[in-house]
Amino acid sequence: MAPHASSDISHETPPTNGANTNASAYSDSNGTDVVPVIIVGAGPVGLLLALRLALNQIRTIVLEKESSLSQLPRAIGYYGPVHDVFQEIGLYDQISTEGMASGGYAWRKLPTDVVDENGKAVGKELGAIIGKNVMSKPGPDGKFKPGHYSIQLAQCRLAEIFLENAKKTGFVKVLWEHEVTGLSQDENQVSVTVATAGEGNKVIKGQYLAACDGGRSTVRKLLGIRLSGHSWPERFLATDVLRVAPVVPELSVHFTVDETFWGVATPLEHVEAGKEGLWRYSLAVPAKPNDDPNSAPLTDEQVLEPEYVDSLLLRQIDGPRPSTHVVVRKSLYKMHQLLVSTMHRGRCFLAGDSAHINNPIGGLGLCTGLLDADALAQTLQIAFSASSSDPNLEDLFNRYSTERRWVFQNVIHPFSSANKIRLHGAKPDDVAREDWYFRALARGDPKELENIHRPLYAQWRTDMRKFWPVERAGKGVKVTNGFTA
Ligand SMILES: Cc1cc2nc3c(=O)[nH]c(=O)nc-3n(C[C@H](O)[C@H](O)[C@H](O)COP(=O)(O)OP(=O)(O)OC[C@H]3O[C@@H](n4cnc5c(N)ncnc54)[C@H](O)[C@@H]3O)c2cc1C
Repeated sequence: MAPHASSDISHETPPTNGANTNASAYSDSNGTDVVPVIIVGAGPVGLLLALRLALNQIRTIVLEKESSLSQLPRAIGYYGPVHDVFQEIGLYDQISTEGMASGGYAWRKLPTDVVDENGKAVGKELGAIIGKNVMSKPGPDGKFKPGHYSIQLAQCRLAEIFLENAKKTGFVKVLWEHEVTGLSQDENQVSVTVATAGEGNKVIKGQYLAACDGGRSTVRKLLGIRLSGHSWPERFLATDVLRVAPVVPELSVHFTVDETFWGVATPLEHVEAGKEGLWRYSLAVPAKPNDDPNSAPLTDEQVLEPEYVDSLLLRQIDGPRPSTHVVVRKSLYKMHQLLVSTMHRGRCFLAGDSAHINNPIGGLGLCTGLLDADALAQTLQIAFSASSSDPNLEDLFNRYSTERRWVFQNVIHPFSSANKIRLHGAKPDDVAREDWYFRALARGDPKELENIHRPLYAQWRTDMRKFWPVERAGKGVKVTNGFTA
């Protein structure tokens, strides 16, 4: 297999004093290109990592098996310390302006029928609120304080923003239709075999590799890393829907609490009552359809039939009937709670869904992946600024894995599991009366609510500098937090 030579990578001789090179690819003893970091997967996690490294003059090659960015309806909500990361990469203003600000969430019962004077159902109105969490209110300038609200923006647009800005740096090369199929590594470098659409197989070499290749990660399998946990019985149908909402309540993002037909609704753009706007409805697909315990589950194809999609949607959408909504995108997902046994092996690291998967209720998955990318960027920046023979580096790499796994195991997994079960664990009135979280929301004591949410906000992000004392930093090398000044 011919080694891949990329035209826009500058070549430098590796430093002779053992210090890692930090900016450019160089040639190994065979004259083959060795890129500082290979990133597998052009999802939002891989692209944020590429951008963060590029802002610190570290070159990357991003290998993506598809021909373009995924447009599937997936993540929509970003909050907490993710806003700090957006600010540090200089994109907070753009992302927050393009997205819709949500100052909190409501939990509602299913919509109820509206009947005419003859008792005929002519539409539905939003279900009663059984709980609400007002995270914050906008200031006098109409803006929310970063970190104290949720930015609602489709994941595909977020990835596009990362890609556009990564490309502008000149430090990132994205190779589309490049699927990683093989991997080997030694103490100096990683080598991947890549199947391409038009150029056959290639071998690409890097000093380090970041597996950001999603839940079905090939790299994870090639490294022999186990993914353990459990899967949920229900499937989750994400639909992007154009509709005219008769009302847009203050807390327009709401969860529907129901033992069977639970879900989440959120605008995907600034919407106004009476005007058409794009909404996301994410709907539980019951493990057994039609409430019949003896019925066989529907196949994925049957669930995606327009009639079945509408049968679920029409339980959730308020407004007159017949409804004029149009489904513009839909995708069906399985739900899991899974974590790898390690996020680091040799010169390879895992980040995002390749390392951990949680159910989507509460929007914790991608946010956690973006914070992995942030921690990994810091780790690699430190690695490139240190001597490559520094014996402490291995410990730093293990720290990346243990810290991020700790966050998932102790914060994200329990929070996301509780978020999901709260939507369907009992009848809505019972949940409202008996669930500790709804009881706390009803009491509305800001101190108590802050204590409940604090573990998430305080522990979600990892500052890798804590594990690399300043005195260890190479002479003349400034180890910042991995952020551009
Ligand atoms: C319905 C739904 C709603 C969600 N809502 C939220 C939310 O509101 N907030 C939130 O934080 N999270 C949410 N999530 C989770 C979020 O979508 C994922 O956590 C996120 O997609 C993970 O990003 P990633 O970059 O790690 O992986 P992915 O987005 O899966 O990207 C992986 C990339 O790697 C590529 N790839 C795979 N294998 C290879 C290979 N061998 N070689 C080269 N390329 C490869 C893929 O083509 C893909 O482009 C939601 C998920 C779902 C399903």
